[in-house]
Amino acid sequence: MDLSTKLVHTSGIGPSLQAKLDKLNLTTVEDLVTHYPFRYEDFAKISKIAEARAGEIVTFSGDVLSIKNTYTKSHKILTKAILNDGSGSVEIIWFNNRWIIKNIKVGDKIQTSGKLDFFAGKLGLIAPEWEKVDINQALHTGRLVPVYPETYGLTSKWLRAKIHQFLPQITPTIVDPIPVEATKDFLPLAKALEKIHFPDTYSEILQAKKRLSFDELFYIQLSTLKKREDWQNKQVTKAFKIDKEKLQEFIDKLPFKLTKAQDKVIQEVLKDVNKTSPANRLIQGEVGSGKTVVAAVIIYLAYLNGLKSLLMAPTEILAFQHNATLTKLLEPFGISVGLYTGSKKFTNIPDVIVGTHALLSEKLELNDIGLIVVDEQQRFGVAQRSLLRARAKSPHFITMTATPIPRTVALTIYGDLDLSVIDEMPVGRLEVKTHYVPEIKREDSYKFMEKVVQEGQQIYIITPLIDESETLVSAKAAKAEFEKLQTKIFPNLKLGLLHGKLKPKEKEEVINAFKNHKIDILVSTSVVEVGMDIPNATIMVIEGAERFGLSQLHQLRGRVGRGNLQSYCFLFAEQEIPQVISRLKNLEHIHDGLKLAELDLQIRGSGEIFGTRQSGDWDLKIASLSNLELIEQARNEAKKILQDDLTLDKHQPLLGKLLNLENIMPD
Ligand code: ADP
Ligand code: MG
Repeated sequence: MDLSTKLVHTSGIGPSLQAKLDKLNLTTVEDLVTHYPFRYEDFAKISKIAEARAGEIVTFSGDVLSIKNTYTKSHKILTKAILNDGSGSVEIIWFNNRWIIKNIKVGDKIQTSGKLDFFAGKLGLIAPEWEKVDINQALHTGRLVPVYPETYGLTSKWLRAKIHQFLPQITPTIVDPIPVEATKDFLPLAKALEKIHFPDTYSEILQAKKRLSFDELFYIQLSTLKKREDWQNKQVTKAFKIDKEKLQEFIDKLPFKLTKAQDKVIQEVLKDVNKTSPANRLIQGEVGSGKTVVAAVIIYLAYLNGLKSLLMAPTEILAFQHNATLTKLLEPFGISVGLYTGSKKFTNIPDVIVGTHALLSEKLELNDIGLIVVDEQQRFGVAQRSLLRARAKSPHFITMTATPIPRTVALTIYGDLDLSVIDEMPVGRLEVKTHYVPEIKREDSYKFMEKVVQEGQQIYIITPLIDESETLVSAKAAKAEFEKLQTKIFPNLKLGLLHGKLKPKEKEEVINAFKNHKIDILVSTSVVEVGMDIPNATIMVIEGAERFGLSQLHQLRGRVGRGNLQSYCFLFAEQEIPQVISRLKNLEHIHDGLKLAELDLQIRGSGEIFGTRQSGDWDLKIASLSNLELIEQARNEAKKILQDDLTLDKHQPLLGKLLNLENIMPD
């Protein structure tokens, strides 16, 4: 037996067990021994029955004096045993377990671990772990006992026993693919695998975890760094000639002066596209920091080099808007911009093609595309991004996001990208004054809104998030809110309605009407979350705000405060309870997207930041995305190896492992 042995081929695992193992994605022995515990029960302390107290976690070793089944009124089995360890006796109770009575006999020596507690007024051990062993070989009791996640009908006890049975058999067969020089600070692999499951001390858990985390991070680094090198070495693209004068002319004609940060990022991108290896850069910038115009400058440069560009956005609304913005900026320079919706073909392919994921359609020719820009890239799956890139041969590739990216994440999830940050907002921007509004103040806030509209400004009202995927239900709810507001609250104002179930044409009409101020108040589902840019809108009202993450609320809030008028964000909650209110009130004084993202991470977990798609692609088994030191160490070791052996010809086991992993990892 070795790590690659299929579990079905080992003794004692038949079809019904295999079905359960399948649910956990456990196929090979390796899968099983890398199914790591998510916590440990500390049963290490062996207690005397006479000295143990209620509430304590204890392990008792003793003789079974009696054991019998009784039945509850609802015919459930209660198995009761009496254990004596010389110091005293204690009752043990198991619920609804038909097997116990067949396995424990009077006179057996057993060891049992659990919490000493009251049951029906009597002190006893309730449903404890137990085994018939001597103390030195204990697996389930009397030690640090591993507990496994999501067992789907496989008990932790079963997994523990199986892993314990396999480990000594496979240990001699384990070949560590990573050269020892890279792992000399850590436990050897086989030892780490043993100790992660069966540690004797807490410090051993930490050591094992460190080694296994290192491996996980190392393989990610090796894979991404190798891909990046391969990509840059193999692919030849057209190096853009940089016509400084023409670029400057374009920049001078913009309706505003670029911020220093925009300038800096443009310079970074110019360096990339000036090479024959394709650029692969992620531009991160807070909402409203002005990423679009940076893209426009590079698109203009592509045009000067005789190449077409393609810009992909996650929603139709955003695609319409980019189409309009780019048309305005680029058409005066003789550049044609067109929206591709998939429903009708271009008669003449424009210089700049804007669209949603419809751009991925086979029907669209992408042959002479020199530059691809993906906006709000976190909204797309990794697969979609690489598909686009692959279909266009070897374009320069720029992605953009407003999601703040901690350095550790940048180095891991985005390890194959170059990162530029627009870390400055255009001048004159005022902070969006944000208020949690209790229900009793609703009337007042409506009056304030009416006044602001009379002064010539516009408002967004976001209806509660019912369904992430914009179903009919969300659309109906938005429609109901719209009708109520139009008839009862603001009968004299012009309201518009926007939701994901409208046809593209209808959406475009509503957005244009809002843009051209034919509408005062836009009632919308959270489809406006991404990217909408209407500087005259100065109030963002969010209903049911507690249904959103803080980052998401921050993104929504970023729809206002885009010009130099004072803007406001009003947050209403459906549940006016203290936790909700205090969470929402964070937005009143925190205006930094990264801080809010970190708060989300604390309060609601990482899915909130990276979006389900993206984090799902990179689910880490054991390593933590917050350990910068270990990530950097893994990266350095991976770099060292690739430096003299990019093909990994001299590291065959590593190459094998990598190919294996890449079958399950995204591009
Ligand atoms: P985001 O980074 O969120 O995509 P946009 O590109 O939509 O931001 O830009 C937000 C708004 O700021 C737009 O109206 C844009 O015209 C404006 N803008 C961009 N750069 C500047 C600047 N340097 N000075 C003033 N306004 C700017
Ligand atoms: Mg944008």
